[in-house]
Amino acid sequence: MNSIDLMTMSGTTVALPLTEVDRLAEQICGPVLRAGDEGYDVARVIWNAMIDKRPALIVSCVETGDVVRTVNFARENRLLLAVRGGGHNIAGSALCDGGIVLDLSQMKAVTVDTEARRATVEAGATLAEFDAATQAFGLATPLGINSTTGIAGLTLGGGIGWLSRKYGLTIDNLVSAEVVTAAGTVVRASASEHPDLFWALRGGGGNFGVVTRFEFALHPVGPNLLSGLIVYPISEARAVLQQYRDFIANAPNELSVWVVMRKAPPLPFLPAEAHGTDILALALLYTGDPNEGSSIIEPLRKFGNPVGEHVGVQPFVAWQQAFDPLLTPGARNYWKSHNFTSLDDGLFDTAIEYLKLMPSPHSEIFLASIGGATARPAPRATAYAPRDAQFVINVHGRWLDDTEDERCILWARSFFNATSRFATGGAYMNFMTADEKDRVPAAYGPNYGRLAQVKRTYDPGNMFRVNQNIQPA
Ligand SMILES: Cc1cc2nc3c(=O)[nH]c(=O)nc-3n(C[C@H](O)[C@H](O)[C@H](O)COP(=O)(O)OP(=O)(O)OC[C@H]3O[C@@H](n4cnc5c(N)ncnc54)[C@H](O)[C@@H]3O)c2cc1C
Repeated sequence: MNSIDLMTMSGTTVALPLTEVDRLAEQICGPVLRAGDEGYDVARVIWNAMIDKRPALIVSCVETGDVVRTVNFARENRLLLAVRGGGHNIAGSALCDGGIVLDLSQMKAVTVDTEARRATVEAGATLAEFDAATQAFGLATPLGINSTTGIAGLTLGGGIGWLSRKYGLTIDNLVSAEVVTAAGTVVRASASEHPDLFWALRGGGGNFGVVTRFEFALHPVGPNLLSGLIVYPISEARAVLQQYRDFIANAPNELSVWVVMRKAPPLPFLPAEAHGTDILALALLYTGDPNEGSSIIEPLRKFGNPVGEHVGVQPFVAWQQAFDPLLTPGARNYWKSHNFTSLDDGLFDTAIEYLKLMPSPHSEIFLASIGGATARPAPRATAYAPRDAQFVINVHGRWLDDTEDERCILWARSFFNATSRFATGGAYMNFMTADEKDRVPAAYGPNYGRLAQVKRTYDPGNMFRVNQNIQPA
């Protein structure tokens, strides 16, 4: 065989001479993998086991030059291109069938400037890798709650986590980015350089180019902070949620309290008889002085009769990984997500009802309280529009066996539909599944038109289309 079939952007296939592929491979510092090559099947595995795509080529980039050469190769041959950071996106957009995957997962360098309180990170780093580098100096920027997530996809969609009420979204701390555009040009985007691109990168996802490097502002955080879980039986959930609503409305931005409703994992601090029962956990982090935090969180213990508690001062990096065991790669996942400005009793009742109907012990309903600093910028200040979101509910349909697909997906969709009337109608694009393309305009709201204009400037041929896609104006 002297050629290889590749998927084009228009959905047809083209046979490229293998000599062309070999020439690309010679120019790339990392491996260029095809089906049958050693490492190919490992390289096409991503976090969500529902995704089983077979790219024609997986190009493992090691430096910005590799990214430029891969983008040029894809553009010149009009090939379908997917960009992979940490491979966590629920929609599976890190991969494509038949096209090229530009894999950044080997580019992980992090440098920290303690004086300027800035960190520069390559686009293949995970949150754990970034946290480890910055926390060595007692510094951090807001990131997500599962440490194996990629910094690239998380940042480009917005980025919410335990520090967000105090320090904003991840994008609110982005200072600059190095970007390879569809034309294969390397540009730096910041408030003063390509400001339109910088605006679009902060929430507009992977639509505008391949980011090779991010620069973030850092804040003094920990390294030891008050954090942990207070767990209530589901019989008390309604009363707990009502008190939580009042509590969080007046809580300082240093405190984040999120709600997880699920079957109790066999955690050592829970009595054995509680394992596997329906529970509501309050998960908290206080970013200020732990002694001060202890008295602030006291009311959370008195919302009812907890079945168990595990709260104490521990390294921030440990708390950043606390949910990893529940979110390991390899399970099948289907998520749905809504934004809320307030929490209605009817929403609580629906969540409790659906917890009881949960089709798999691995699934959960996750309520993140954001607000605080995330709500400060105007909706048009960055591409991320839903600044009104005080709360995000993410229903994590999660199970192990493909025979359960239909049942589990139906459960997540039904919960989503049943709670729509309480939601804003906006959306967080990082939590959207592959079948939610129709929600993209709502996710960007008043910013969609400007995003389409920026897309026309930087990617007029819509080369970066394997994502929650914004069409060029
Ligand atoms: C278990 C789990 C927990 C999560 N928790 C949180 C959370 O707490 N907070 C939160 O905000 N989000 C969270 N997310 C959502 C997460 O932010 C998104 O899934 C994000 O897209 C993951 O980024 P990634 O780089 O790992 O993913 P990938 O799948 O590799 O990338 C996602 C998309 O981003 C684009 N992209 C990636 N890298 C680049 C790049 N360098 N240049 C240009 N485009 C690129 C591409 O379009 C790609 O398809 C979570 C997801 C999971 C699975």
